[in-house]
Amino acid sequence: MPLLCKECNGRRFPIAFPDQRDALWLCENCKNFVNIKDEFVREWTKEEMDENKIKLENFQKDVTTEKTPEKKRRSGVN
Ligand SMILES: [Zn+2]
Repeated sequence: MPLLCKECNGRRFPIAFPDQRDALWLCENCKNFVNIKDEFVREWTKEEMDENKIKLENFQKDVTTEKTPEKKRRSGVN
């Protein structure tokens, strides 16, 4: 599996796409995808970068919310 990028030796991350059978492997440094055979597929598009950023921000927001004590109110207590 193309866990490491051939160009920068950085870590690649598998990204699943609904319209593709296999996940593509993304290098965030080189901003490109390779397939499971480590063949170049395409560049990481600007839209996907933005989307990824938003997802990450939402995720961090979720984590922060979960740690807020007020949310852990007990229910069903009379
Ligand atoms: Zn790379």
